[in-house]
Amino acid sequence: MTDCIFCKIISRDIPSYQIYEDDDVLAFLDITQTTKGHTLVVPKKHIRNVLEMTGEDAATLFSKIPQIASHITKTLGASGMNILQNNETIAGQTVFHAHVHLIPRYSKDDGFK
Ligand code: 5GP
Ligand code: ZN
Repeated sequence: MTDCIFCKIISRDIPSYQIYEDDDVLAFLDITQTTKGHTLVVPKKHIRNVLEMTGEDAATLFSKIPQIASHITKTLGASGMNILQNNETIAGQTVFHAHVHLIPRYSKDDGFK
């Protein structure tokens, strides 16, 4: 989709710090680092959000989450992680290309509450 910021990140028209990539998903650092290593995982196929997904779309995206989440947690020495996902404006979605937030948590951090 031409005016989608995450499609532009996937196509490298907008730079990002990439964490993981395969045929189906891209993981990159959120421009706003709620905590160190805050990452977004997006499907390469443009889909607005989970409310628009088929089960297959959801399986493709969410099946990648455990591997990426545990990699980030171990690499950064985090103590845990918040995983969250917003659908539509009322729920806090601001970029309308589906994405999963991975927010590492550290002892004594003052990030996402
Ligand atoms: P949402 O509020 O839709 O769940 O999350 C969208 C996220 O995208 C926000 O956390 C925001 O910081 C992030 N974001 C918006 N624009 C960009 C960008 O150009 N690059 C990166 N890396 N993250 C972005
Ligand atoms: Zn898109």
